[in-house]
Amino acid sequence: MSTLDAPVTALKGVGEALAIKFGRLSIERVSDLLFHLPLRYQDRTRLTPMGTLRAGQEAVIEGEVTANDVVKGRRRSLLVRLRDASGIVSLRFFHFAPAQQQQLHVGARVRAFGEARAGATGLELYHPEYHLSGSGTPVDEHFTPIYPTTEGLNQLRFRALVQQALGLLEREPEALPEVLSDALRQRFGLPGLHASLALLHRPPPDTDIEQLGAGRHPATRRLALEELLAHRLSLREVRQRIQQDGAPELADGRGLQARFLTQLPFALTGAQQRVLEEIILDLARPAPMLRLVQGDVGSGKTVVAAMAALAALESNCQAAIMAPTEILAEQHYRSFKAWFEPLGIEVAWLAGKLKGKARLDAKAAIADGRARMVVGTHALFQDDVHFQRLGLAVIDEQHRFGVHQRLALREKGEAGGLTPHQLIMTATPIPRTLAMSAYADLDVSLIDELPPGRTPVKTVVVSDERRPEVVQRIERACGEGRQAYWVCTLIEESEALQCQAAEVTSAELTEALPQLAIGLVHGRMKAAEKAEVMAAFKEGGLDLLVATTVIEVGVDVPNASLMVIENPERLGLSQLHQLRGRVGRGSTESFCVLLYHPPLSKGSRQRLGVMRETSDGFRIAEKDLELRGPGEVLGTRQTGLAQMKIADLERDADLLDSVSALARALEGDSAAAAVLIRRWLGDAAGRYGQV
Ligand code: ADP
Ligand code: MG
Repeated sequence: MSTLDAPVTALKGVGEALAIKFGRLSIERVSDLLFHLPLRYQDRTRLTPMGTLRAGQEAVIEGEVTANDVVKGRRRSLLVRLRDASGIVSLRFFHFAPAQQQQLHVGARVRAFGEARAGATGLELYHPEYHLSGSGTPVDEHFTPIYPTTEGLNQLRFRALVQQALGLLEREPEALPEVLSDALRQRFGLPGLHASLALLHRPPPDTDIEQLGAGRHPATRRLALEELLAHRLSLREVRQRIQQDGAPELADGRGLQARFLTQLPFALTGAQQRVLEEIILDLARPAPMLRLVQGDVGSGKTVVAAMAALAALESNCQAAIMAPTEILAEQHYRSFKAWFEPLGIEVAWLAGKLKGKARLDAKAAIADGRARMVVGTHALFQDDVHFQRLGLAVIDEQHRFGVHQRLALREKGEAGGLTPHQLIMTATPIPRTLAMSAYADLDVSLIDELPPGRTPVKTVVVSDERRPEVVQRIERACGEGRQAYWVCTLIEESEALQCQAAEVTSAELTEALPQLAIGLVHGRMKAAEKAEVMAAFKEGGLDLLVATTVIEVGVDVPNASLMVIENPERLGLSQLHQLRGRVGRGSTESFCVLLYHPPLSKGSRQRLGVMRETSDGFRIAEKDLELRGPGEVLGTRQTGLAQMKIADLERDADLLDSVSALARALEGDSAAAAVLIRRWLGDAAGRYGQV
């Protein structure tokens, strides 16, 4: 094994204690050090004439001491005046030893490095690094890298160890193979891997340091591209692994579908039909479908899922739909029962909270195939749940699930060794940059049309000082026979506090609006209680529903036309968009009141402004990505995206086309893919593979 592949303790001067510190930085192997890039660089490669120095600039200066005084300002300090041919700069020390004062005597020649600030005597360097110099002492040959490090591991030590690792790389270059051929590198204008690493850790003085600092230097981009490529290849591998399995070939399901459609009170939109056709084609193939259906809130994804499920049922398979929350799963359960039981199809329900005999019964019906349609939460995919013959698994609201769950689904086809088809539905419009990296293993269908008769939701941003007016507004709307939501948002990440806040708000509103029927749902209520309240609201028995963000996804009550969101500044834009999508489902004009608590930060004002201006889910998602970054938007559990070492999806968005092209170019080169995946994902790649 090459030393580069060995644990960091293989480096001279690194023992167990230091290895633990490196571990905190996710540096395990010697080569990891090479991929741990500097945060920034200092320029000690040239002397800066004092006359040209600007405040804020970090520089090396050299000159003769012309004065040396202990001054008494607010704090006692040693002030040393330095002069060169171009000007004067002072060094200031708040802590100093008498020996230091002597060393810096008038007439001494001193070289110092530090950041210039505008001080009492003009430009000053506080506590600079310095030494006495004869003229002609050489400056550094390279820019000085400053590494992100951890306690007990200083920059000097860090730098020396990285240089040691670079030395190893020079001695055994084959230990870190270049995967991109000369031809590919030329085509994409990429510098070599080794040259890039050397430049980043040891930039020569003619390097464009600003470009380097901004992550736009070709050397950084080469590494970012390689990292994105590794992630892409890893997702492709997941896809290939799944698609090697056989899947049941499902007929189009036309018989059941026709009967289902005649009982629906509406016709499918063109977009729904088109997406359904794409799905049906996939289902007929003997390899598992891996398809993501994207459609904005309210675009009618559930009906599409139901039609796909009927195709599975008609071919004597079971179908399952999994939702991320119990409330949403319950709502799907009600919908599917109402739709499918008239067709003679038994629908089963399974969630974590279902216990005892009811749970055993449900599991038995799923295992012996009596239950042909199964609705539930992720409890559906626990080890003790066995399907008789699962043909299609629908995962609603993809953004809460990741690659791992997708792989885990393979097990559920069990009978006959077939893997179910997978249909993943999301209302979080995924910007192209994310779609190309996080979901590159999925085929994508887009429901880009809302059902007819929707009216856009008018959004207003209101300070909570005007809460009484908002309460009156609810009174008016409900007085006219419409329904409303009042959403209490997360307080300090605590579900308990959130529920408490919702309880208090509900009590206050009940007192202020005695004539209204007001219900409350929050995450700490029993499933049955929640279901009861939701059902009452849906049937019109309640005028106002006070809720925590548990209603975020999927709840559907067309008569609700007003939503108040308290403290919207605490939520991400995509989450607000989801919430707001609960209104505007009927034909009356709908309103969303964003009731913020002043003062609003500039960022929050900007974000709420986006909500007021647009209802376009894609624009909102793009903005969200811009303002919060991909880790937040997708949830960090997603695909390890948040853990990219060098690439930054926003900064490097323009690389994604090259990533696609390179992934195609490496099609069939499984050795290259393996090297890249191991290099960049290491153990994470193993985790993707664990089924
Ligand atoms: P989402 O895509 O957000 O999951 P749903 O599937 O919950 O949306 O659908 C939202 C509402 O639109 C539901 O009330 C559903 O019955 C209705 N709907 C779905 N498709 C159509 C259609 N083609 N025409 C009219 N209403 C539709
Ligand atoms: Mg939905």
